[in-house]
Amino acid sequence: MNSIKWIDEVDNNDVEIVGGKAASLGELRSAELPVPDAFVVTAETFRKYIKNTEIDEKIFEILSDVNVNNSKELNKASEEIKEIILKKDMPDSLKEDIYQSYEEISKEVEGKAFVAIRSSATAEDLPDASFAGQQETFLNIKEEENVIDAIKKCWASLYTGRAIFYREKQDFKHSDVNIAVIVQKMVDAEKAGVIFTSHPTTGKNEVIIEAGWGLGEGVVSGQVSPDHYIIDRKTYEVTKTEIANKKTMFLKDKETGKTIEKDVPDDKKEAQILDKEEIQELAKLADTVEKHYGTPQDVEWAIKDGEIFMLQSRPITTITGIEDEEEKETEKGEVIVEGLGASPGRASGKVKIVQNIDEIDKIKSGDIIVTTMTTPDMVPSMKKASAIVTDEGGMTCHAAIVSRELGTPAVVGSKNATSVLSDGLFITVDGEKGKVTKGKTEKEEKEEEKEVKEKVVETKSTETTATDIKVNVSIPEAAERASKTGADGVGLLRIEHMVLSLNRHPQSYVDAGEEDKFVNELFKGIRKVCDEFYPNPVWVRTLDAPTDEFRSLEGGEHEPKEHNPMLGMRGIRRDLRYKKNFKMQIEAIKKLQEKGYDNIGIMLPLVQNSREIREAKKIMKKSGIDTKKLDFGIMVETPASAMIIEDLIEERIEFVSFGTNDLTQYTLAVDRNNENVSHLYDERHEAVLKLIERVIKKCNEEGVKTSICGQAGSYPDIVEKLVSMGINSVSANIDAVNEIRNTVAKTEKKLLLDSIR
Ligand code: PEP
Ligand code: MG
Repeated sequence: MNSIKWIDEVDNNDVEIVGGKAASLGELRSAELPVPDAFVVTAETFRKYIKNTEIDEKIFEILSDVNVNNSKELNKASEEIKEIILKKDMPDSLKEDIYQSYEEISKEVEGKAFVAIRSSATAEDLPDASFAGQQETFLNIKEEENVIDAIKKCWASLYTGRAIFYREKQDFKHSDVNIAVIVQKMVDAEKAGVIFTSHPTTGKNEVIIEAGWGLGEGVVSGQVSPDHYIIDRKTYEVTKTEIANKKTMFLKDKETGKTIEKDVPDDKKEAQILDKEEIQELAKLADTVEKHYGTPQDVEWAIKDGEIFMLQSRPITTITGIEDEEEKETEKGEVIVEGLGASPGRASGKVKIVQNIDEIDKIKSGDIIVTTMTTPDMVPSMKKASAIVTDEGGMTCHAAIVSRELGTPAVVGSKNATSVLSDGLFITVDGEKGKVTKGKTEKEEKEEEKEVKEKVVETKSTETTATDIKVNVSIPEAAERASKTGADGVGLLRIEHMVLSLNRHPQSYVDAGEEDKFVNELFKGIRKVCDEFYPNPVWVRTLDAPTDEFRSLEGGEHEPKEHNPMLGMRGIRRDLRYKKNFKMQIEAIKKLQEKGYDNIGIMLPLVQNSREIREAKKIMKKSGIDTKKLDFGIMVETPASAMIIEDLIEERIEFVSFGTNDLTQYTLAVDRNNENVSHLYDERHEAVLKLIERVIKKCNEEGVKTSICGQAGSYPDIVEKLVSMGINSVSANIDAVNEIRNTVAKTEKKLLLDSIR
């Protein structure tokens, strides 16, 4: 029987014959792990089938023409191919082989056995290209005809839109990828789930077990929130148990034999699924699996009548766990757009493409804005949106900064969202991983929203730190949310977002003799933030908006057209060219001082030389600002300022704050907003860290405070380094404040201990 192999006959060397999943089941069997009986319709059988029935040419012709970035075209191609496969009848000789093997599996049961029919693609479960979840699985199948039917459906699932898309993206030739089908005795599980034999995010020596009631389907697909157990791999001690509120479960319906979703009975909802013995037994099996493979594995398991079964094992693609999580996401839905995860959280909603600002009014509450790049006049609609997706931009572009402050999930720099997505499509945006998948139901979305909100409250840090933990604010509307983090002040108030949302160019106020109006607008915006944080300090950064952004404002048409606005008229150099603009900002701060706000600091952006500080100070002095009530500092965001920090300190500054967004782009010659080079944008580059270290050292020698307000101040690993270098404060994004406080507390304690040991 060439078309069939039993899993006892195969191992990991047989991926080409039986596909990755089946080969791995064979491997588990050979390690004497408890795997239910199964046979495999080999990949070669599928290949022969499409060749002998002469449908192969047609399939590959359709595939060669499809543009996978166009989801309509992709789905049409997929439907056509699937229909071609399903319509063809299977040769009788093959049917006969399958019937015989099915009978063999049914031997020990009364009547015919229930089986799971699972795809096992030859490119699936490989260490560097996990295709998990790409192809179909059919549970609780019984009777010959249904088995044949499900096998054909598995074959057809090699050509779902999602699978075609992934192969193209991973550069797998369609004709090289083949599919085998496993027919495995069903375990009518009472409880089931997944084991990670090593911690999927840290690679630590821990086993993680996830468990749900009923079949494992719900846990694997992410539809069920599972119980979560962590076990120390050395001692088998259970170090953490999290009992989830389990709402649904998947079961075999006793009458129809079909897999159904049911509510978990009340008494089981909050009950712990696994007892200590079961947890430890699973952990031991996990250990055996990992030892057998020599690499961390992700194992599906099930328990029936107290007996444990292992249903599948595959490598954890990367030990960072990111890929692993990604697999789960893709299992939930087709990833249709990818970009940078710029603002954490997940949300679902309807796509609204905004090609230009005139269309922004069509955004209704809960919609997802999909646009080339957001502009400041979109902010009111960004507040209504449940998520934001852009074609352009990096982690520090307008869309990224504003979305983070609003707490709205965002994916930026996708390159193609506005062309791939279409109006009305229901999608889910994962702002952490930078993925857009086909959407969820509104009910699920609401539940998730609730979860995210609760999470923010839950995780509030109670640590006390010697290093101040501050927060970045760009839009006054975010001030309340920012202060609720418990931050020790604002380490960066970017006023250009405030100015841009006025939608009128500052110069046009000057030209119309309406400076007061502009001053008043700034005064109101900054006051809102100062009120939220008083008496904690608010460091206001003077205007730093590039010419391309200012040009879109009313009266902004005279802005020079620059080849690279990032290197052009922005930051303090701009304010010193158009001094009246600078004076208006200083007036607004003076007005606040006069109202009694003594918690304001001023910080100059993009400083390049000492003269800039001198000139700015001169204007401030002339305006009559009370410098005694004011912290005055500069941003270190050009390599030049870092290299001559000694000279800048001589101009008498109280503090410096690292603008790592710019410091990185200027050190590495990588435009921070250019998605084509974003893979080279790296705040952890040694050159960037060396510049920072140099500045901290010199400032500490001279008694000048140091801080960070670039995006890197929200990354724990970098912050750990900065605290060790002796930084005085860290200003993080709203969503990162708590985590950063915890990181700082831990680092400080470690430094203390190190110093006394
Ligand atoms: C920076 O450059 O790191 C910074 C905080 O300023 P911005 O992102 O506004 O340029
Ligand atoms: Mg900057």
